Amino acid sequence: MTETPPALSAPVCSARGCRATAEWALRWNNPRLHTPQRRKTWLACPEHRPTLGAFLDARGFLREVLPVAPSPTLEA
Ligand SMILES: [Zn+2]
Repeated sequence: MTETPPALSAPVCSARGCRATAEWALRWNNPRLHTPQRRKTWLACPEHRPTLGAFLDARGFLREVLPVAPSPTLEA
């Protein structure tokens, strides 16, 4: 649950204890802690995307879910 720096290598799932490659970025905001424009990002592998998404959605934090770009060089 840490701030994720821009990925230089394969992104890793944010779920506790999971080392799988993340394929999804869950963008969320806690209105009690963050300004409305602020976005935190959790990365998720296919297995944990529903789990992490449900956790955030149940608290009303989830804003959007985006696929992780397969080629980071395109964003450099
Ligand atoms: Zn995972």
